[in-house]
Amino acid sequence: MNYASIFFDDTVNGIGFRTSLFVSGCAKTPPCKGCWSPEARQFDYGVPFTKDVKASILESLKHPYVKGLSILGGEPMDNLRGGALLDLVKTIKTKFPHKTIFCWSGYTFEELIKNPIRLEFLQYIDMLRDGEFIEDLKDITQYLSGSKNQRMIAVRESLNQDRIIKYSVLDN
Ligand code: SF4
Repeated sequence: MNYASIFFDDTVNGIGFRTSLFVSGCAKTPPCKGCWSPEARQFDYGVPFTKDVKASILESLKHPYVKGLSILGGEPMDNLRGGALLDLVKTIKTKFPHKTIFCWSGYTFEELIKNPIRLEFLQYIDMLRDGEFIEDLKDITQYLSGSKNQRMIAVRESLNQDRIIKYSVLDN
């Protein structure tokens, strides 16, 4: 897996200070009109995600003020076959069970849970921002912006209750 960038102490992509990882590659066909990171749709864009990169992410999460990890793309859900992302989120939830993991996907929750690999990955995600970016529904006023069709989903609660539960920013 390649990644395009990592931001430490990021306050833009989620609640509080976070580490944000932008993975490379998106197989969504056709791509979202107005895709916000067209260059990062290529799977060979950026640099390889190595053990050292994983270690630097874990190191960043040791700081008490860092709330967690945000995973964006590209498309994280098209980057699961190599196992590096699953390994990363499993390690974080073992070492730092109280840190939150947020993930952005251009696929809907309902689409994602049909795939066993994606479903396994979702077990470790606290908040999923789901759905295609639709330019006509773009809304810069909503939290984390994007388009109106995109939802903030409390993943484990939704899986447990077999219905969509909204992720509450106020509770977290
Ligand atoms: S899912 Fe993300 S990377 Fe893929 S086409 Fe849509 S906006 Fe672009």
